[in-house]
Amino acid sequence: MKRRSLLGALAAAPLAAREPQAQQTAARAARGVPAPRIRDVQVIATAPQGLRLTVVKIVTDQDGLYGYGCGTYTQRAELVVAAVERYLRPFLIGKPADRIDDLWQAMYNSSYWRNGPVLNNAISGVDQALWDIKGRMAGMPVYQLLGGKCREAADCYAHASGREIAEVIDNARKLMAQGFRHIRVQVGVPGQAGYGAGGGAGQVEKLHDAPVFEPEDYLRRALKLLETARKELGEAVELLHDVHERVSPIQAVRFCKECERFRLFFLEDPLSPEDIEWFRIIRQQCSTPIAMGELFNSPHEWTPLIRDRLIDFIRIHVSQAGGLTPCRKIAAMAELMGVKTAWHGPGDVSPVGHMANITLDVACHNFGIQESVFFPDAVREVFEGCPVLKNGYFYVNESPGWGIEVNEAAAKKYPYGYGEKGERQRLNGGWGEVRRRDGTIIKQ
Ligand SMILES: [Mg+2]
Repeated sequence: MKRRSLLGALAAAPLAAREPQAQQTAARAARGVPAPRIRDVQVIATAPQGLRLTVVKIVTDQDGLYGYGCGTYTQRAELVVAAVERYLRPFLIGKPADRIDDLWQAMYNSSYWRNGPVLNNAISGVDQALWDIKGRMAGMPVYQLLGGKCREAADCYAHASGREIAEVIDNARKLMAQGFRHIRVQVGVPGQAGYGAGGGAGQVEKLHDAPVFEPEDYLRRALKLLETARKELGEAVELLHDVHERVSPIQAVRFCKECERFRLFFLEDPLSPEDIEWFRIIRQQCSTPIAMGELFNSPHEWTPLIRDRLIDFIRIHVSQAGGLTPCRKIAAMAELMGVKTAWHGPGDVSPVGHMANITLDVACHNFGIQESVFFPDAVREVFEGCPVLKNGYFYVNESPGWGIEVNEAAAKKYPYGYGEKGERQRLNGGWGEVRRRDGTIIKQ
């Protein structure tokens, strides 16, 4: 019935008859399709770029209705696969797929001991797949289910790295020419295993055979890089830098103060999660904006930092916290406290996970910045519908759900271990170790 004739019929009906008619109409609209039930939970384990990605596929009892979610924890990928297949799959089969928050709470509590990275990533894979299913059911991209867009696209930062400072500046200029307004700069320390840039040639006297890293050598080099970058690249570009939690707390306090004059967009992870009490001291001493949180997997870590306004950007790895469901709540809490989002977006997040990041970016008012990646051809072959990066902005896909289809035949061409060499291969995708000159192990 056309809207005009429906209104006409309602107007003509006596008052008592109108109410049931209206109730029926509302019930039909709200009910939509029947509630789908989870028929199967599968894992797609693939490494098209050499990094182990874990994607969960949930299949429902309704024809052609399924969804994908990212549960990538590349350093312990096979454990996430087992957590999904051996524990969550039997727990979920037969349950309704349209009760996302309820299922999240049920999964979270089903192991009794919780908040570990393996289990949180497994839950995230399921959680994001359920959001994908809900979007497909509604015929809408997930950002519409969160209330719609607050902005057209997500402004991104890109990584400029190099063994020498001049090389970093050159790479930054190339990225700026591509349209990026925000650049993260990292430089190597000669002969050392610095974070974000190789050290290149150079001899460091050391008492062991492992890769070496000395915090004071790094801090001196990083200050020189930031000073040169601000001078050479101009005032307008936004500069970012990642300490990667590799220095002592008091060194971090000093470094944050020394960086104030470079007017950074943010300084990332100056402290490790074990040292978060020190953020209060940094805050009291300087105005360098602080981003923190890619290693967080427990509410006990982010709640006090946001509540007490001790950081400026919350930088959680969405799958590590348990998926879209907890992270949209974290974003809402952060908004109330004036903290912005900067979700972790490295290569070891699948394109499904990146789409979850960008969905939060466009749908949350307190978006700060998004870390970007360039998807190589092999990743695009496996994941059809990757987010589009243009002029330094990431765009969401406008198709229902995440708008991504996984080519499972292509995924099989790149099994775990594909492209891995040396220590990475020997450690089954895990990381080795880095030590100070005297042999003391450091956090990586
Ligand atoms: Mg980082």
